[in-house]
Amino acid sequence: MSALVLIELIGSEVSANSRAAITAASQLADTIDALVLTNAVDNASQTSSLAGLGTVKVIVNEELEHACVEVASGLIAEVMASYKYLVAGSSTYSKNIVPRVGALLDVQPISDVCEIKSKNTFVRPLYAGNIMATVESSDSKILMTVRSTSFEHSQDGGSASIEELSLTMPESQSTFVSLQESQSERPELTTAARIVSGGRGLGSKEDFALIDQLADKLDAAVGASRAAVDAGFITNDYQVGQTGKVVAPKLYIAVGISGAIQHLAGMKDSEVIVAINNDPDAPMCRMADLIWKTDLFGAMQEMIDHN
Ligand SMILES: Cc1cc2nc3c(=O)[nH]c(=O)nc-3n(C[C@H](O)[C@H](O)[C@H](O)COP(=O)(O)OP(=O)(O)OC[C@H]3O[C@@H](n4cnc5c(N)ncnc54)[C@H](O)[C@@H]3O)c2cc1C
Repeated sequence: MSALVLIELIGSEVSANSRAAITAASQLADTIDALVLTNAVDNASQTSSLAGLGTVKVIVNEELEHACVEVASGLIAEVMASYKYLVAGSSTYSKNIVPRVGALLDVQPISDVCEIKSKNTFVRPLYAGNIMATVESSDSKILMTVRSTSFEHSQDGGSASIEELSLTMPESQSTFVSLQESQSERPELTTAARIVSGGRGLGSKEDFALIDQLADKLDAAVGASRAAVDAGFITNDYQVGQTGKVVAPKLYIAVGISGAIQHLAGMKDSEVIVAINNDPDAPMCRMADLIWKTDLFGAMQEMIDHN
């Protein structure tokens, strides 16, 4: 049986999510190929050096620099004729594409897989991770997204061959117009080893700057609760949780975050959790390894000023 891993490129770099997808695929199939949709064949070279891959299939077209979902899903569905599994990392990229591939192939995709029990049985979270459901698929092809925090990330050490496919670009009713990306020198949220995350307790956008200052000091990524995002303290690409990013850093410092289940769903796998909160009964304090029960403003200033 063979598996196709959908590669998400960030520039020409393979995303951490896709590296996790390769490891997940290795638990399902003997032959694992990767699919790269790109505007330049050179962008597939990093994929070919990842361990565990047989062939890297590349579809090159100018349109694929920012492929619309109709185009990407049409191409993937065609390539899937030769594969039993499609495995992708769980990300905005794959959440956009994989369901449409499922519709084209008339199969039910399985999202956010955390554990592979057998070739057709998988564990995935429900109700913000409060329930882990074991699901069995009887579809002829199995499409899934996998949580990057649940699988090791494939590293360099492979030498897969690169095969360029020439497929006709599917018709699309939508066209790419522009991309606005937030630029940051800080570590990327989903792969950072340390995260300083702020909640409604910060009280204002101005005071949320304390989170930035501590993050810079600790070389950490910045995260936020949805309440902080909704209040306009920070943009929603920093949101951690059920409807935000799922993270599992070595250190997660939750500042003024109560720990609603939807937030915990996105960070509960962190190795060490520190809660800075003046309410010791907050759910975040029950989950934390270390609780600093104090006014957060004094605590933040003390840490920022500490040499
Ligand atoms: C469908 C759905 C999806 C959702 N998805 C997400 C998600 O992805 N991510 C997410 O975060 N939320 C999500 N939510 C929202 C979630 O339910 C909570 O409303 C939100 O997480 C609360 O954010 P918070 O902890 O910052 O705010 P609050 O719950 O208001 O907590 C603020 C905390 O700050 C503390 N505090 C206040 N002042 C100070 C001070 N001076 N010093 C010390 N501590 C202080 C308080 O004790 C309190 O614990 C979702 C909700 C729904 C319904």
